[in-house]
This record gives sequence, C-alpha cells and structure tokens, in this order.
Amino acid sequence: MTLHSLFDRSAAIGFCVNPLDRRSDRREDFDFIAAQLENPGRSFFALAGDVPILRKQGEDYGALFGAADIESFDNSRQTIFLGLQADDNPVFARSFDKELLEKLAGRPDIEAIDLRSIALRGLVPADILGELGTAKEVLDWHRRHRFCAFCGQETQATAGGWRRDCGNCGTQHFPRVDPVVIMLAIDGDRCLMGRQTRFPDKMYSALAGFLEPGETIEDAVRREIREEAGIACSHVRYFASQPWPFPSSLMIGCYARAIGNTITFDQKELEHARWFSRAEVVQMLAEAHPEGLAAPKPLAIAHHLLKEFAEKGGEVVP
Ligand SMILES: [Zn+2]
Repeated sequence: MTLHSLFDRSAAIGFCVNPLDRRSDRREDFDFIAAQLENPGRSFFALAGDVPILRKQGEDYGALFGAADIESFDNSRQTIFLGLQADDNPVFARSFDKELLEKLAGRPDIEAIDLRSIALRGLVPADILGELGTAKEVLDWHRRHRFCAFCGQETQATAGGWRRDCGNCGTQHFPRVDPVVIMLAIDGDRCLMGRQTRFPDKMYSALAGFLEPGETIEDAVRREIREEAGIACSHVRYFASQPWPFPSSLMIGCYARAIGNTITFDQKELEHARWFSRAEVVQMLAEAHPEGLAAPKPLAIAHHLLKEFAEKGGEVVP
C-alpha cells in the first residue's frame, strides 16, 4: 500500500496514482535534464499521435520502453521529462507521428491501444496508468498549442517539456488543465442522476460541467445542477478529484444538498434525469438493477461518488 492509498481517496480512481517524483524544481536546469536523458536506467512512454504504444508479451502488456527500443522508432516529435522513479531512474514520454502506427502494425510484440481502452481493460497497473495519463495530457497540449496565443508565432518547448516559450513576444505558456465539477445532488436518501444521448444504453451518471472564470467550485456545482435539472442546492461538500486525460480535465467530485425536488431537465444537455433511491444505487453498482439501469465503471469518479452515497446515504453532505 502506498502513501497515496493510505491518505488520499483519489488514489482509488482511474488516472489518480502517479508516484513519480516530478522534480519540477529541476526542469529549467538543462544540465540536469540532459543528464537524465543519458541515464542508462531511463525509460519512455511512447505515443503515436494521442495513441499509446504498448509492448506485448503473450497476454501481458507493458507501457515503458528502454532507450534502444525507443530510439528505433523514427519521427519523434516531443520528449517530456515526467520525473524520477523511486530508484531515481528517469521516466520520459515521447510522441511520434501517427505514421509510426503503420510502421509498427506488423510487429507481434507491439500494439497501439487508445488510453480509454487501456484503462477500461486494466492492461497496466494503476501507477503506470496515472503516469501514462500525465504523458498523454502534456503531449496533447504540445500538439494543440504550437503557436503563441498572444502573437501567433510558433513557440518552442522548454523546461523538460513543461513550458512553451514564444521567441517573438516573450510569453511563456504552460500546460493547461480544465476544471470540471461532477456532482450528485442529494435529497434525503435519494440522489440525482442524468443521462446524455451519447451514454451507453441505460446508463445514468452524475451531472457535470466546466467551471467558469470567476466561479468557486461550490457555485459551479450549484449552477450546473440548477441549469441542467432545475434543482436548487445549498451545501456543497468536496469528495475527491481525478485527472481525466481526454484531453486534459480535472474532475472535481462533490455532493450538494438539494433544496427542491421537482426536476426540470435541460433537454439540450440531457436525455433524461431522475432521482434514484439509495437501494437503486446499490443495485446499479452491483449490476443488478431490475430495469437494467447501469452506473459508470470504477474507472470514473462518478462510480466512487455513487459508492460513497450507497454506503452513507444522505450523510454524504451536511
Ligand atoms: Zn508570442
């Protein structure tokens, strides 16, 4: 058991465990980064476009490549220093053109699998999944932010891949994270869930929405529930958070105490919304609901919000 799982509820949720020592204090030390790139114990995550490349041996998958393997792949685009493992060996992430996928297609020892599938299929351990999620987020940011948002000139990566500098106007750009609130409104022993048309059939989940500038987490939670379901809320309680690398969100899980209980859902956002009793939530988590209604998988923070509600009922929020 790591310190994460002892002290931090987030550790039970997908993409939440990243045990690397990021050494963000050394990223601007070019000699340090150069020395890490020469370290014989170095290893790399590899992504072609936004698709991770895995090593495959029989039914087992691995996500880290040694230096010789990684250097045999052509057309690398970007390298990120992710941090040091417990034994001080450095870990990097490296991106490649999508063409690499065609080149590797015939190799039985390598398979490219999208990150969501890797997570859902449990192909790598939780800590590797968290590190791989970090790699994807930062590499995605480089792909999407090649040009200065201020003056439009092309920018250059620096600081171990954690910053892009504009040589024209001097602006420094940092990888962005988009905060999203995701929450259950609680009315006594019931909780509110909705479904979007894009959800798998019969699945309901917690409501969610982007936090806006000038807004607290609590206000965003209350606003989203009011806008999407027409329910006013009072108290809000933070539950846990989850990096969500599709492409770079931070899911902030909360509970909110409902004041009213008449749902008027926004048909642009939701296909349906309704109250669920605690007993129904227990059935959904056990995949035993009589109407076949389903909850999100354990990979998602919504699953864990529901699990705590199933265990504690209305006590989850003051
Ligand atoms: Zn600029």
